[in-house]
Amino acid sequence: MSRFFLADLHIHTCLSPCAELEMLPELIVARAQELGLQIIAVTDHNSAENVAAVVNAARDTSITVLPGMEVQTREEVHLLTLFDTLEQVASWQAQVYANLPPLKNDEALFGEQLILDANGEPAGYLDRLLLTSTFFSVEDVVQRVRDLGGLCIPAHVDRPMYSIIANLGFIPPELDVVGVEISANIGPIEARERFPQLVHYGLVADGDAHRLREMMRRTTLKMEAPTVAELSLALAGAEGREVWVDGLRSGATVC
Ligand SMILES: [Zn+2]
Ligand SMILES: [Zn+2]
Repeated sequence: MSRFFLADLHIHTCLSPCAELEMLPELIVARAQELGLQIIAVTDHNSAENVAAVVNAARDTSITVLPGMEVQTREEVHLLTLFDTLEQVASWQAQVYANLPPLKNDEALFGEQLILDANGEPAGYLDRLLLTSTFFSVEDVVQRVRDLGGLCIPAHVDRPMYSIIANLGFIPPELDVVGVEISANIGPIEARERFPQLVHYGLVADGDAHRLREMMRRTTLKMEAPTVAELSLALAGAEGREVWVDGLRSGATVC
């Protein structure tokens, strides 16, 4: 039985050096409740250290937290990687850390990377540099995330930086993705006018929030359950699942 879910699949915590310190689990969950969201995904840059804290903060609410990460590929493309379980994202984090250049974060330049334990208590600062490219290619990330049972969604594809279209020129048709994210700067109609290739992909819109007030954009999903598998079906517009952005059906059109 399908029902509608309001989702924001791209939220940073205080672990992301570019995010405000207010991006704390309890405050993120409270804001999500105020906004009526039923699904949120935690997607810090190249790390999932704070995901468990947000999952725990939402434990007694009706909000589902999808463990995730925003990975930067060697082409400087940002990809949202989403999973169902903490175990999956922990496996993914191990792979990403093994493929990040071993550089130290410069807090004065990039900002602090505050780690929280599973209870949401500060547990120190991560000193490895997160705001950099991994050694993975776009194809590597898509394949590895799929192998772990996760879902990969190219982030903010209309933006001039750190996007797959800006950096590769297009979305490689053979790339195994069903959906892409558009930024707050554009709606689904304009996005498909500017980038006709997007008719082949389901579209989602998220806040990409680095501060609480930026949790402004959302996607409506018609699915049977708040899972990555259902999200894939919704992006494809398959089996009665649907995705909506700005009041418009935005699932992939099969040609
Ligand atoms: Zn990004
Ligand atoms: Zn982001």
